[in-house]
Amino acid sequence: MSTHVVWFRNDLRVADHAPLTNACKRAASEGGHVLPIYVMDPFWFGRTERGFPRTDAKRANFLLECLRDLDRNLREIGGKLRILCGDSSAVFADLCREVAIESVSCFHEVSTQETAIEDQVRSELSKQSVDFKAFSPATMCDWDRLPFSIPETPEVFTKFRRLVEKRGHFSPPAPVPDKFQAFPSDLVGETNCEDLKKLSWYPRDSRSNQPSDTNLFVGGITAGTARLNHYLWESDALSRYKETRNGMLAVDDSSKLSSWLAFGCLSAKQVMQEIDHYESKRVKNDSTYWLKFELLWRDFFILMSAKHGAHLYRAGGLQNRQIDWISNDDMFQAWVQGKTGYPLIDANMRELSQTGYMSNRGRQNVASFLTKNLGLDWRLGAEWFESKLIDHDPSLNYGNWNYAAGIGNDAREFRWFNTNKQAATYDPNGDYVRHWLPELHKVPSDWIHHPWRMGESLQQSADCVIGTDYPEPIVDLFHSAELNKQRYERPNRQPAKLATQGLLQF
Ligand SMILES: Cc1cc2nc3c(=O)[nH]c(=O)nc-3n(C[C@H](O)[C@H](O)[C@H](O)COP(=O)(O)OP(=O)(O)OC[C@H]3O[C@@H](n4cnc5c(N)ncnc54)[C@H](O)[C@@H]3O)c2cc1C
Repeated sequence: MSTHVVWFRNDLRVADHAPLTNACKRAASEGGHVLPIYVMDPFWFGRTERGFPRTDAKRANFLLECLRDLDRNLREIGGKLRILCGDSSAVFADLCREVAIESVSCFHEVSTQETAIEDQVRSELSKQSVDFKAFSPATMCDWDRLPFSIPETPEVFTKFRRLVEKRGHFSPPAPVPDKFQAFPSDLVGETNCEDLKKLSWYPRDSRSNQPSDTNLFVGGITAGTARLNHYLWESDALSRYKETRNGMLAVDDSSKLSSWLAFGCLSAKQVMQEIDHYESKRVKNDSTYWLKFELLWRDFFILMSAKHGAHLYRAGGLQNRQIDWISNDDMFQAWVQGKTGYPLIDANMRELSQTGYMSNRGRQNVASFLTKNLGLDWRLGAEWFESKLIDHDPSLNYGNWNYAAGIGNDAREFRWFNTNKQAATYDPNGDYVRHWLPELHKVPSDWIHHPWRMGESLQQSADCVIGTDYPEPIVDLFHSAELNKQRYERPNRQPAKLATQGLLQF
């Protein structure tokens, strides 16, 4: 009997899954089996180039929840998920020795590391004469219907968006396949989610530290679908998205769908279809359009990643702009730990460490602060995000960091976020910063975003002595931005050391 393997990667769902649907069809027509596989490759649990754990505990935990739920969903249509540990190509080599495999299929992933792994697997399978097919990535736009080829993808989002919107029509998601004939026996080395936790290299998470409102990040199709239902149908929050999306505190300020999208528990097409349905049954307004607009940003960054490959990750980014980034570990640690002395930055960084999430407004601010005020190498920030974010997606993370650092494809000038102004606009009463910075609880709203300006007696009465309970600002906002602007505009003219000394005068 023929066996068709489906290799699940960042697509941990059963609906809108072309490789699974295709394998089921082939197996049904040939009277064969379907064998769903997940490879737990230790590569993803190693270290990033700058030494951070590539997958921190919260994302690892979310992944296990996704796998458990995928297994439950597969069992409903006849199969079960087999988890195999090891280097991906070696796992497939062993599998070929054990099982007579007819075909292996998966979704193509665009980031360089994922593509490299895919290439190794492809080459291993070709040695074994096994048919391998990688389906185009599950974006909202079908790749075979794009109005341009991948190398011709417009560099500017607005142009990209106009072209795909002009073409109109996004095809609907495919349904869950019919029941299939599962592979009957156990595999050598097969493991389960509970045993994965016992692996020495698998990070462990204790959820007890998380505030209750962030426990919403539970992995899997079931939890992702529940979140989508809540955000659209139960709370009607979608109808207000355009007004609330820049909020940082309330759970329903934005959809919070990113983690389920990153792991593929939900596909962008499924979300898009649900928004269409909501528009026809409840309300169609600027907010409902805006969520589709943001999902197009997701498609755009995935296509950029497919187009530019490794260039996305180099120091000079897509522009290949040579900037003498400063090297200063004290400043980086202050940023990481949320101790820069700027409450908006610190609150966001602590939220990230404690929950594995940060709002888009927060991400833009902390990325601007790292690169435009501290002048530190953007890749430190991107790798820290890679480590900590539950929703980490290489194309979206590195694409957005390129953009924020001013080295992305359509960056034209030095644009920076004035943290003080941002704080006044998006957290006028300081509720967000108080939520994450207990040392500022008693600081009056007038001073909450610049506590260093409080006089001595006010500091005493607010239980917040600057320099003791909360740090002084590590840089002057405007002066540092001005210096970094000069360095940005005259790339590589000055040796990094001189520029560093200048900045350290703050
Ligand atoms: C420096 C930086 C790094 C980022 N890293 C990631 C990452 O690793 N993974 C990730 O999913 N998003 C990333 N983003 C994009 C964005 O911040 C998150 O997608 C968003 O905050 C997730 O919350 P949400 O699902 O509530 O978003 P919503 O506002 O509800 O948006 C809905 C969906 O649209 C997509 N989207 C929204 N904003 C963007 C954007 N700027 N770029 C691409 N897609 C977008 C996401 O899939 C998101 O889930 C990053 C942004 C910045 C500035």
